Amino acid sequence: MHWARYCAACGAPGIACTDGRRLDCARCGFEFYQNVATAVSAVLRHQGQIAWLVRAREPGLGLLDLPGGFVDPDEDLEAALARELREELALDVGRGRYLFSAPNHYPYAGVRYHTLDAYFAFELGSRPQVSLNDEARALRWLSPHEIQPDRLAFDSLRTALPQLQALENS
Ligand SMILES: [Zn+2]
Repeated sequence: MHWARYCAACGAPGIACTDGRRLDCARCGFEFYQNVATAVSAVLRHQGQIAWLVRAREPGLGLLDLPGGFVDPDEDLEAALARELREELALDVGRGRYLFSAPNHYPYAGVRYHTLDAYFAFELGSRPQVSLNDEARALRWLSPHEIQPDRLAFDSLRTALPQLQALENS
């Protein structure tokens, strides 16, 4: 981690990162933890296909992603995912079913964030009407079997892909 060069408390240069997530200041004793951020992803399923977003911005511009995002302070996973689905798709599909989690790296503005993404499945009786916000340029219904890993925006999706394929086989 090389994104911090000065202590945020006393301004001393040469702040050290000791374990990949903790910044220590030798002068004033300030410590800062960049802990793993929690994120949620929606697997919207209909007839063997999943709703994928084509990202309209970096990271992963033009690549496939699932709806979802970061959990806000004091928010639970289910509320975060419901909020993200409203924001990204103008969609209200109730509560999902927890599937699995996968670690991720999210590079943004010079900082590489470590996240843990929790995946939830939603079984839909039809393809819903959605309204995309400016984070996505398109929505595509694709079987996870027809997706090559290099079309995916994030490491966590590449980790999740075999599990999503197994889901469609079950
Ligand atoms: Zn300091």
